[in-house]
Amino acid sequence: MELLDLEKHGIDIKEQVPLSKYTFTKTGGPAQYLAFPKNETELMQLVAVAKQERVPLTVIGNASNLIIRDGGIAGLVLILTAMNQITVTAEQVTAQAGARIIDTAFTAAHAGLSGLEFAAGIPGSVGGAVFMNAGAYGGETCEAVKSVRVLTRTGEVKTYTNEEMAFSYRHSLVQETGDIVIAATFELTKAPKAPILANMHYLNALRRYKQPLEYPSCGSVFKRPTGHYVGPMIIQAGLQGRQIGGAQDSTKHAGFIVNKGGATATDYLNLIHLIQKVIKEKFAIDLQTEVRIIGQATD
Ligand code: FAD
Repeated sequence: MELLDLEKHGIDIKEQVPLSKYTFTKTGGPAQYLAFPKNETELMQLVAVAKQERVPLTVIGNASNLIIRDGGIAGLVLILTAMNQITVTAEQVTAQAGARIIDTAFTAAHAGLSGLEFAAGIPGSVGGAVFMNAGAYGGETCEAVKSVRVLTRTGEVKTYTNEEMAFSYRHSLVQETGDIVIAATFELTKAPKAPILANMHYLNALRRYKQPLEYPSCGSVFKRPTGHYVGPMIIQAGLQGRQIGGAQDSTKHAGFIVNKGGATATDYLNLIHLIQKVIKEKFAIDLQTEVRIIGQATD
């Protein structure tokens, strides 16, 4: 069977779709094929046909931590946002990979469950939050995860415990294995609903105050090097506000790069490389990107 034949089986799959429609930076080239599986069965069918046809496979979540190069992505891209169920049982919340981590955190809060407050404003999916071990305001995804259900690239469904996920700062096991996160179960603590919600609203107010949420961006571009803060280094290096094409180092939060209008992925990458070069010269520090950079450059 060919990939596009799956459309006849009710699977939402299209050819040559611009991914800039989906990325938070509003940049990036097209996907050769783009599919939105609605459930685990469709996901498994897509993975099986891609494997059989030897078509490369890329999974993305909410595309809030991604720069997709302007040449786009060859092969099949899966966006899991239609797999977004969230269920609460006693002190556990299980969310499918495509559910927003914000919705998962608010569902938990409304059920009187504490532990995901830190994620109230992280615009990723549950799959992306697990993959990245996303964190904010002193909390990290790994502190709440009980187990993670995955589909391996060979089509096997597995469940990893928290320990098996080998979480560390912005890292988890699936970054190495290439497993597709299907769902995660969070183990939370019973607590009164009102203070949980108040804390989440407070953290989101802080975010609005500090972050340039009025522009497209991919959040913090660089990982924090041990013992240093990226924003102040960029400011000291005189790079805050520097613009290449439509991509600008944010004048509100120097750790963000915003799309001021018409930016390309190449503009983002050129600015990232400039910042890395200058920081290396001035502070002898190699800044690593937190944002994931994928896809092909244009010729
Ligand atoms: P994507 O950007 O779609 O993908 C990121 C990586 O995860 C890719 O390599 C992708 O292949 C992989 N991936 C996604 N889903 C799956 C899956 N189901 N299975 C396997 N791999 C998968 N991050 C923080 O940690 N803390 C913050 O406070 C924070 N604030 C942000 C604020 C703004 C305004 C923005 C734009 C971003 C911010 N981010 C923050 C970054 C981002 O939201 C997180 O990294 C988030 O976890 C990414 O999730 P996503 O679904 O968008 O992943």
